[in-house]
Amino acid sequence: MDKIMNIVFAKDPFEKEFHQAVSEVLRSVKPVLDKNPEYRYAGIMERIIEPERVIQFRIPWVDDQGEIRVNRGFRIEMNSAIGPYKGGLRFHPSVNLSILKFLAFEQIFKNALTTLPLGAGKGGADFDPRGRSDNEVMRFCQSFMCELYRHLGQDTDVPAGDIGVGAREIGYLFGMYKKLKNEFSGVLTGKSLNWGGSLIRPEATGYGTVFFAEEMLATRNDSLKGKVCLVSASGNVAQYTIEKLNQLGAKVVTISDSSGYIYDEKGIDEAKLQYVMYLKNGRCGRIKEYAQKYPEAVYSEHDRSLDHNPIWNIKADCAFPSATQNEINVKDAQNLVNNGVYVVSEGANMPTIPEGVEIFLENKILYGPGKAANAGGVAVSGLEMSQNAMRIKWPREEVEAKLKSIMQGIHRACLLASEEYGTPGNYVNGANIAGFVKVADSMMDQGIV
Ligand code: NDP
Repeated sequence: MDKIMNIVFAKDPFEKEFHQAVSEVLRSVKPVLDKNPEYRYAGIMERIIEPERVIQFRIPWVDDQGEIRVNRGFRIEMNSAIGPYKGGLRFHPSVNLSILKFLAFEQIFKNALTTLPLGAGKGGADFDPRGRSDNEVMRFCQSFMCELYRHLGQDTDVPAGDIGVGAREIGYLFGMYKKLKNEFSGVLTGKSLNWGGSLIRPEATGYGTVFFAEEMLATRNDSLKGKVCLVSASGNVAQYTIEKLNQLGAKVVTISDSSGYIYDEKGIDEAKLQYVMYLKNGRCGRIKEYAQKYPEAVYSEHDRSLDHNPIWNIKADCAFPSATQNEINVKDAQNLVNNGVYVVSEGANMPTIPEGVEIFLENKILYGPGKAANAGGVAVSGLEMSQNAMRIKWPREEVEAKLKSIMQGIHRACLLASEEYGTPGNYVNGANIAGFVKVADSMMDQGIV
């Protein structure tokens, strides 16, 4: 294990998010490698940590003032052992190689858990769509696709959305791809319904995260009904997490964005959620406006000088972190436990730092790591690809039923793997092991490539 980590440190000394993701998986799969030395002889770990291909490119575009802007674009084609590269595109100023490699690495195990034929990839750019006009976003997306198109294809690499890439961006990206290739194919997922999108894709990640929590609770003969829940962020994942929690009778009391958070003791009900969707998706507004519209709610600005995030210091039963990596530090994790939270289901990717995860595991709370709990998004992307290939569209109820059954299957696979390797109920080990074994076996079958 040390040898593998040393390779990662030596080759990419500054990629701290990537180190974090690799080291967690290594810890989980060590007993698997001990029991199955053939994986060692086949160099599976040495190969799985190395992306099959990394593409980095220049994205020049012109802003509304006529000024020339240049951003940096990436696509990490991480692993194609079980299907075409699949994973989202993130447009955010923080995007760099380390963040995208950690996300692409996580995607290997997540996609394997879905049971669908999906390889792993991730991409994006250090571009910030916030505050940009529609025309600027369109020109940026077109320039991005002018380079990326040559690496994509419905059987090669099929990106989707992530932070900063929603239906609007997918539309502009798809339009440019179609023009350049002169073909209409399912090369992106998260498309709009009129031109190849799947029902339930926008809802899928949030709904799936809630289904996963429900499955974890069921192991203790418990349910989400009447539970008080904390949700961070107010983007795609957060919105549909809240929607499903409301449908299942839970009460959500928080929501946030990168400027601050709302505490609404009465709960963010369906009408308030509709307002959040209008505010965030229609107007690109800030979450503090929620407290102006609903004076019973309290808004607090993020205070960067604090050593913790107060959104995680509120009495509750369940938490659904839905913003970004490492949003829960040690103190936050301890605060959650101290406040009675006993279910954490991660909508975001790697939102809890490793020492925080240890606190959850030590306290035996029901902890669903992102790569298992938020796999519903990529799962429905896989279903979108199937519908595109068959040129049909499944009804809403059918896709939601398939999503629910996939999330139940992921939960079961994690639980079984955690039991088989002696850590029952540890979904971190379960997710890493179940995902790893499928990909490792496929890599063995396909030889040294
Ligand atoms: P969106 O762009 O729709 O929303 C992102 C939300 O997170 C916004 O509310 C944003 O606030 C907030 N946010 C982003 N960065 C920070 C930060 N540094 N601190 C505090 N808040 C922040 O993204 P998604 O909802 O799609 O993605 C959220 C998370 O879920 C990500 O970790 C993503 O990787 C993960 N995920 C998404 C999937 C999907 O299908 N979309 C699938 C699986 C995982 P602001 O507007 O102020 O920036």
